[in-house]
Amino acid sequence: MKPEHIAMNEYVKDLLTCPRCHIIITPPYQQCKMGHLRCSSAECETSDSETVCYCGETFLMFKISSLEKIYDALVFTCKFSQNGCIEVSLKAKDLKKHEEGCKFSPKNNPEMGKISTK
Ligand SMILES: [Zn+2]
Ligand SMILES: [Zn+2]
Ligand SMILES: [Zn+2]
Repeated sequence: MKPEHIAMNEYVKDLLTCPRCHIIITPPYQQCKMGHLRCSSAECETSDSETVCYCGETFLMFKISSLEKIYDALVFTCKFSQNGCIEVSLKAKDLKKHEEGCKFSPKNNPEMGKISTK
């Protein structure tokens, strides 16, 4: 992968990152009239936030399929990279599966867990 592709990947991730909880927002995407994306993380999700954005506008009830395709094209780094995993170009659909079976996960490798929690 060329560096400019990596920069583009990071830029798009930035655009999809929730300004409140700093977690990348995952599909399905919903947008309010002001263009804010709805974040469904545990931190941002309240009973009100399902229909009303933090800016007070209601969410528009249509799918933003172009954004979903962009999300599918992004590549992610395995969250266990700090433990030594070298997977840095996983597609979103493969990421979860990989992380569940990743040999650098504390769950799959108790020794690794001891090291990272010391
Ligand atoms: Zn959020
Ligand atoms: Zn809004
Ligand atoms: Zn991994």
